[in-house]
Amino acid sequence: MKSVRKIFQFVNNVYSEKCPSCKQGYAFKKGTKLFAVPEMNVACDACQYKFEREPGYFIGAMYISYGLSTFQAIVAYLLTNMLWPSISIALLLGIITMTLVLFAKLNFKWARLIYIYIFPW
Ligand SMILES: [Zn+2]
Repeated sequence: MKSVRKIFQFVNNVYSEKCPSCKQGYAFKKGTKLFAVPEMNVACDACQYKFEREPGYFIGAMYISYGLSTFQAIVAYLLTNMLWPSISIALLLGIITMTLVLFAKLNFKWARLIYIYIFPW
């Protein structure tokens, strides 16, 4: 039961973009434009935890982003196939592509946050 609570806490912290150290400050700047790449804060406002330790630190987050987008594509495929079994391949691919485009900005943030939570200071 304790581990389930920890998993929910982890998902909540990643979803709410909280600092991995103090869980109070925010990792990303708020109010960025809709199609702009999300900007990460240099350090936490509350505890001064440095988010990017060295140049290229977040390259490993690409693997997490790949996993997230693969999972989303599979879920989009299964849902579309379940709700609309006679759909054409082209439309199915279009729906999967739209799903990936819609989640791209969130995946960028989630992948970096999950990476920070996996490899803290
Ligand atoms: Zn903090």
